[in-house]
Amino acid sequence: MRLLATFWVAAVTALGQSSPTAPGPIAFTHVTVINPGTSSVQANRTVVITGDRITSVSDAAKVQPPKNARVIDATGQYLIPGLWDMHVHSAFGDWFPGGRDIILPLFVANGVAGVRDMGGDLPVLMAWRKEIAGGQIIGPRMVISGPMLDGYLPDGKLRFPSSIAVSTPADAIAAVDSLKKQGADFIKVQSEITRDAYLAAAAEAHKQGLPIVGHVPDRIRMREVVEAGQMSVEHLMGIFEGCSTEEDKFIQGQGNLKLLLSTQDQRRCDSLIKLLAQHQTWQVPTLAWQRGGEFLDQPDPKRAPLDKYVPAYWRDVTWRRFTNEMMPDLLRDPLALRKEYFARNLQIVGAMHRAGVPFLAGTDSAPGVYIMPGFSLHDELANFVEAGFTPMESLQTATSNPAKFLGMQASFGSVESGKTADLVLLTANPLENIRNTQKISAVLANGKLFDRAALGHILVQMEAAARRQK
Ligand SMILES: [Zn+2]
Repeated sequence: MRLLATFWVAAVTALGQSSPTAPGPIAFTHVTVINPGTSSVQANRTVVITGDRITSVSDAAKVQPPKNARVIDATGQYLIPGLWDMHVHSAFGDWFPGGRDIILPLFVANGVAGVRDMGGDLPVLMAWRKEIAGGQIIGPRMVISGPMLDGYLPDGKLRFPSSIAVSTPADAIAAVDSLKKQGADFIKVQSEITRDAYLAAAAEAHKQGLPIVGHVPDRIRMREVVEAGQMSVEHLMGIFEGCSTEEDKFIQGQGNLKLLLSTQDQRRCDSLIKLLAQHQTWQVPTLAWQRGGEFLDQPDPKRAPLDKYVPAYWRDVTWRRFTNEMMPDLLRDPLALRKEYFARNLQIVGAMHRAGVPFLAGTDSAPGVYIMPGFSLHDELANFVEAGFTPMESLQTATSNPAKFLGMQASFGSVESGKTADLVLLTANPLENIRNTQKISAVLANGKLFDRAALGHILVQMEAAARRQK
């Protein structure tokens, strides 16, 4: 499946080309450069950026910054590649009115310079992408799926907005072809799609040169999506079912959490994990949302400081509606069982990682209830460390791994001469404590420098925008 990576190139190349302003060079001096992809740490560097490119990374003791450069003395600070959130929804039907004005800048304010939009309104997202590239609005680079392929619920409705109803293989082929024509970068599948429609969508996506990613649909086994060439799997879907001796029951829709956890079989699990490693099927466990979603009935004091960025509509309509929808299922399982399930989430992520299964950081913001654009990505990095990743390995999931996944290592994911200058400057070492990725003193995104004052200004504006939106 490695070949699939090249299919992304056109999309991201187009994103990387724009350089809205052409200011003089910027030089970070005496900075420690961290390149997660090669696990390299270089102290006392001078990093020069011209336009939206890194033009040199050299020994600060030997090389002076260019005369006309804006010099930023970064003594004691750490420079990492711009972060990617590989699972977001930024324009999602009527769920986030005004999302453009809050969601997009919040990513950048948190050092997230790129996102993979996993289901949204294609023309809207494409217009935003253009405005971001042109420097008219602040936001991350985007790779975009457009609407998700899904089947109808028993009540004859689609579960989510930004979805295409797909019932038959012919529907699936037509949907893939239409998305290809409209310029989607990849195909996202949801849970309700039937087995036949899914297999037809996967085959057609391969034919059209589009990666297929997303859920392990309810009626399909993990093994089957891996063998169908699905490039990424979200939310750890299908894995516990695949490890269970009662997988058939789950495929028939007759399982429950207690059965799932009491029928895990080590041999089945080892063999499934081995298959994922062989196929290098990327996992996007969205642990921040798994944790949030499992404990929706529990108050979380950690949310309070971010409340000011939440428009009333998200809180009182969108998230409330989604919470109400999930709550009956959730409350069927006692809290202790849900705690055990989340602990197993962390364990299996660690086990897959040790077995060589590749990972991407993704959050499911903003539909994930209280999963906040940008902020939650840092929670996800901490979750990976909790699951047994080193801080360096955790950083890889949001920097070098996304670049590899997108087939764009030549431009993104490392701090090297010739690369796109998406960068985050930190005042403390993220390798000592992964939470230090939140100690941001500057972000470079799309050729634009946001120093601490500028980042603070974005946050103040977001607070005002959230208050304005009713
Ligand atoms: Zn999602």
